[in-house]
Amino acid sequence: MCAANPKIVSGANEITEGYIALSSSYSMESRSSSGGIADALTRYVLSLGGWVVAGCVMEEDGRVCHRLVEDMADAWILQGSKYVQSDVTSGLLNECQVALQSGKKLLFFGTPCQIYGMRSALTAYGDNIIGVDLICHGVPSPLFWEKAFGELVNEGFVNNGKDLLFRHRSAWERDDFSFLNYKRKNKRNNERNAYYSTFLDSSSFRESCYSCKFANAMRPGDLTIGDCATLSNYMEFAPVESASSILVNSVKGGNLLQDALEKGALLVAPFDYEAEIRANAQLHRPSRRPIQRDRIYFDLLEMPYEQFEKKYQTGLSLKKKVKGLVKRFIPLSMRTRIRLLLQRRTK
Ligand SMILES: Cc1cc2nc3c(=O)[nH]c(=O)nc-3n(C[C@H](O)[C@H](O)[C@H](O)COP(=O)(O)OP(=O)(O)OC[C@H]3O[C@@H](n4cnc5c(N)ncnc54)[C@H](O)[C@@H]3O)c2cc1C
Ligand code: SF4
Repeated sequence: MCAANPKIVSGANEITEGYIALSSSYSMESRSSSGGIADALTRYVLSLGGWVVAGCVMEEDGRVCHRLVEDMADAWILQGSKYVQSDVTSGLLNECQVALQSGKKLLFFGTPCQIYGMRSALTAYGDNIIGVDLICHGVPSPLFWEKAFGELVNEGFVNNGKDLLFRHRSAWERDDFSFLNYKRKNKRNNERNAYYSTFLDSSSFRESCYSCKFANAMRPGDLTIGDCATLSNYMEFAPVESASSILVNSVKGGNLLQDALEKGALLVAPFDYEAEIRANAQLHRPSRRPIQRDRIYFDLLEMPYEQFEKKYQTGLSLKKKVKGLVKRFIPLSMRTRIRLLLQRRTK
């Protein structure tokens, strides 16, 4: 399903308030990508009963698609950003419709184009749906991911998609953008992987992502979640945590958030959401299309994967190596303390 180029983005709402946020069960070992707020909202509505949650999973064979979760025991499969286009099948939408027809409410997570598409398909049930859109800079094609995942399996890095995370954190790193095998705890730097390198430099996205109609402050979801780009202004709230942002775009979204806050599912502090819109690129413009985008998918199809991998890995620059060394010797907590001291001195 893709609604990346609707002629008019109807039904989108303006952001009215925003918070820096963490799940109240935030932990360094979590499978979540940043503050764990998607998981906190998922678990909150499942605890109420009468709700189902749709979101993105990685299957054992590496396929990335949307699934419906009804039991708390399955909530973990939605955790973690999978940086690839997720398949929202008509079967999944049928399952959502059946749940809605039986009187259940639906919490649906997805990229803004997916939320827009889901709303168009399930218009009749709008009152019982809360859409949560992700701030999104783009997605590479599933074909590229299939090859990249196959390579990670061939190399023995991972053998089950459910064990693979795109992001994690440690005592040295608030936000580590590298692959982690969650079971074995071994990691692969993004600079040593063509898929991850080109995802981060925006050169492998679907063409439609470079002219995304949703990369602005008019949002198709009732709530919007993302990485907090103005985190350094709120160091007291999240000194070492990888905090998220949560933006409220409708009364329905605001009510759900307030209820979740009253039950203690999330920790939040109000923040300057207009500053966040300016700081977080995909709240005001689509990703820029690098010249490398012209060739990458031809090379993917024409080159042996090993050769392709070598050509497109960014590799570790000297600057990054030095930065890595500093991080290894000075834990995040100490670096943060120094930063806070400096911040207070300059005030
Ligand atoms: C493709 C993609 C691009 C993103 N780009 C940005 C960005 O440019 N700036 C920014 O601030 N934040 C971006 N994010 C959001 C960020 O990665 C975190 O999801 C967000 O900060 C919330 O973190 P979390 O810990 O609460 O949730 P997470 O653990 O990340 O989970 C978030 C929810 O997203 C859903 N999800 C995971 N992968 C996908 C997918 N491929 N397609 C659809 N839904 C998915 C899951 O169902 C889960 O419920 C992006 C996310 C994705 C998936
Ligand atoms: S950048 Fe836009 S078009 Fe691309 S996946 Fe994200 S929301 Fe959809």
